[in-house]
Amino acid sequence: MPVYTPPLIHSGANAATLLKELTGSILAVTMELPWQLLQRQLSWRPAQVHFVANMDLETVENLHESLPPFDVIVGIGGGSCCDTAKYLAWRRNARMVLVPTIISVDAPLTNTIAVRVDGKVRYVGDIFPMEIIVDHTLIRQAPPELNRAGACDIASIHTALYDWRLAHRKTGEPFDADIATLAADCLRELDEAAAEIYNVTPRGIDLLVDLFRREVEFCARLGSSRPEEGSEHIVAYHLEHLTRRHFLHGDLVGLGIYTMARLQDNEPNYALDLIHRCGLRFAVADATLEEIGQCLRRLRRFKDEAGLFYSVVDVKEVDEGLVQDILQTLRRFR
Ligand SMILES: [Zn+2]
Repeated sequence: MPVYTPPLIHSGANAATLLKELTGSILAVTMELPWQLLQRQLSWRPAQVHFVANMDLETVENLHESLPPFDVIVGIGGGSCCDTAKYLAWRRNARMVLVPTIISVDAPLTNTIAVRVDGKVRYVGDIFPMEIIVDHTLIRQAPPELNRAGACDIASIHTALYDWRLAHRKTGEPFDADIATLAADCLRELDEAAAEIYNVTPRGIDLLVDLFRREVEFCARLGSSRPEEGSEHIVAYHLEHLTRRHFLHGDLVGLGIYTMARLQDNEPNYALDLIHRCGLRFAVADATLEEIGQCLRRLRRFKDEAGLFYSVVDVKEVDEGLVQDILQTLRRFR
């Protein structure tokens, strides 16, 4: 892990106007939709604009080799646009400005870059974003359910902290009580502001970005994502692996938080209420109930085969009664 550097975050209505103050040769990496949104709001013409096609490692590495030199790279859009900008800035050691137009993932704040190799996600690189423009006007134009999805990687602290403590007790894995407290604070603040997150208000946007910032900081200090990544993420990874389809991360992690809180016997009603109030679509309507049932029944096997971290999945069996009960609940929310 590189040394953590706190980012400079400019936030507000029409904050993207700041792009006009950038000097030097600028390369923007974006996609059609966010680029149109930005152009409607702001007349800004960088020297070069590249449209992101995919996040295959080969694609981004080819970009690094083929794109002409630039002084500043600006990533405008969702996770893939920010990650492409991060990749190029990392490879070229260039100044980078990120303008997330949606906050469904924490990519604008993290130091790693999610690329795909043979269709599987792999994290490469290390570059902490230094300058981020959080433009409320742009972000609020995205479908609200996509922005609400960002809450998943903070809400996941509920089940992840349980797993971390369990692993500490059962396997002696190091546990940092101070960092666990910081994580629990983030979870509490998310809970208190759930309505703001749901309604994608300026305060909700700023809070979510700030929670991501703090989470990235304490995870970097710890050297792992343990405080926010537990068995709920195993559910998410398994459903994607099982179906070979891509889902909104917030939907899958939402499902994972509810189902694993049930398995952990860790305030499942609180977990359900929290993810519901944040607007996470935890019933994952894009997957069939049969697929979700299979995902839960084979969770342990998947976890063992994938060599994933220790969690409640190692100590408790997902029995058929629990599976049926969970599917019953999901039906009610579909
Ligand atoms: Zn996640």
